[in-house]
Amino acid sequence: MVKTLTGGCLCGAVTFSLEDRFKSFYLCHCKQCKQLTGSAFAANITTDKDNITWHSGQDKVSTYEHSSRVFSKSFCQVCGSALPFINKAGTSLVVPAGSLNDPPEIKPQENIFASEEASWLSDGTKAKKFPGFANK
Ligand SMILES: [Zn+2]
Ligand SMILES: [Zn+2]
Repeated sequence: MVKTLTGGCLCGAVTFSLEDRFKSFYLCHCKQCKQLTGSAFAANITTDKDNITWHSGQDKVSTYEHSSRVFSKSFCQVCGSALPFINKAGTSLVVPAGSLNDPPEIKPQENIFASEEASWLSDGTKAKKFPGFANK
């Protein structure tokens, strides 16, 4: 049986659910994803475009379409969290992995635009780990 996963934005305005059946899971290291996320890479999972039920806040979702590259991002107008969107080709729903409350079955398969990887990413993954804030 396919599990149902829930997701949403940080402020709680936008909530959705979808079935745990995904096509691909990739980490994108391109310059644009770094800017859009403010972090080292975007973690996106794709699924069928109709595999989503919006429960609240769909009117709070804005979508940015990049003018030259095939590139979109949906986000909550209140808190800015990344949210699922249908790709420009209209073939798939792209789900930011961090927008899910539950872990999906699928694991990351590809690091794309690896040539643009942040110079500090590999040192960051090796840096000392703390369960919460660092003890200072
Ligand atoms: Zn929000
Ligand atoms: Zn990218």
